[in-house]
Amino acid sequence: MPSIDIIVPVFNEQTVLPLFQERIQSAMQNCDVEWRVIFIDDGSSDDSLAMMRTIHEADTRFGFLSLSRNFGKEYAVTAGLDHASSDAAVVIDVDLQDPPELIPEMVAQWHAGYDVVYATRKARHGESMAKKATANLFYRTINSMSKIDIPKDTGDFRLMSRRAYQAVNKLRERNRFMKGLFAWVGYKQKQIFFEREPRAAGETKWNYNKLWRFALDGITSFSYLPLRFATWIGMTVAIFAFIYGAFIIAQTLIFGSDVPGYPSLMVVILFLGGIQLTALGIIGEYLGRMFNESKQRPLYLVDEFQPPNG
Ligand code: UDP
Ligand code: MG
Repeated sequence: MPSIDIIVPVFNEQTVLPLFQERIQSAMQNCDVEWRVIFIDDGSSDDSLAMMRTIHEADTRFGFLSLSRNFGKEYAVTAGLDHASSDAAVVIDVDLQDPPELIPEMVAQWHAGYDVVYATRKARHGESMAKKATANLFYRTINSMSKIDIPKDTGDFRLMSRRAYQAVNKLRERNRFMKGLFAWVGYKQKQIFFEREPRAAGETKWNYNKLWRFALDGITSFSYLPLRFATWIGMTVAIFAFIYGAFIIAQTLIFGSDVPGYPSLMVVILFLGGIQLTALGIIGEYLGRMFNESKQRPLYLVDEFQPPNG
């Protein structure tokens, strides 16, 4: 029988862990695969780890891996995929926003020959208009800027065949924009749809600050178009300046010089200053990430690994 590893990143989720356990157990009942769950404790400060231990003792199909501190969801998922060993791996949130009932459908598509089956949400319940609008803008921006196609409204919830998740595991960059890494791998991909529910319990760890950094990470790791922007804007401004200069020379030759214009000078100086600072900032974003990569630190550190099934 084929086997799957279900990778579940967990950060301070003691309230939802038992609910998740029940939902997975019942969802997987009629699915013809041997399944195992690997919880990744991403440095929780509540009783999540103790809860995982309890769940593991009650049902050894649930294992856990605890990281030495909070590294962030991307790193938790990376750690989980590194420790996967089954024929396929599923990545799913613990908060039940990704319905476990979808896994059997993913498995069916995998059996039908797809390497990656990803779940796209049809509606975003329990999320503000502002979050929806920013998400929309984000996908439009990143897809127009990079060559790989990142599907809209698709999170990390997906099934990957062994060769697909092993390919992801080979991408060791520190700047881990998972949606991009998953898409980069390619292979035969299948999209399925689902309704995203509000969180079962607990609170989201997202905020706008994180969203902004997330967007920057996504764009900088999959496109260097912003670096080219600086060149284009610089060239455009230079061409305008040249034409304007020629115009002033002609004007002076024909009509003589009138009183020099202080306001126009200020506008030009401020405009160019603004562009230069923006360009420097863009270079800085890339430079900082290169600095991060060049240190070659491990992506995460494991505190304890309790594999499922003994
Ligand atoms: N998570 C994690 N590390 C973190 C933040 C979140 O492992 O630093 C996990 C969290 O426990 C959940 C998943 O990532 O299983 C998604 O987090 P959340 O629900 O807060 O994000 P949202 O669904 O609001 O995008
Ligand atoms: Mg969530």
